[in-house]
Amino acid sequence: MIILPKLRCPGCGKNLNAVTVNEVPKANRFEDCLRRCPDCRIGATNAKNPAKVKYIHADALPPDVPPVKP
Ligand SMILES: [Zn+2]
Repeated sequence: MIILPKLRCPGCGKNLNAVTVNEVPKANRFEDCLRRCPDCRIGATNAKNPAKVKYIHADALPPDVPPVKP
């Protein structure tokens, strides 16, 4: 079991709940992100280390979106 820790949405500051998974899928798109803020349409990539998490906006098309600045 792998736990992806909870994060804070960079858009609105709400908590994105932690998720427990057997396998961590690679997240290249908002839809692949296991932790998402539906209000901001921002997804956090599935990195276990919060320092390595990138945020993907639902409307962003390219896979390598720079992290949102705080
Ligand atoms: Zn948000």
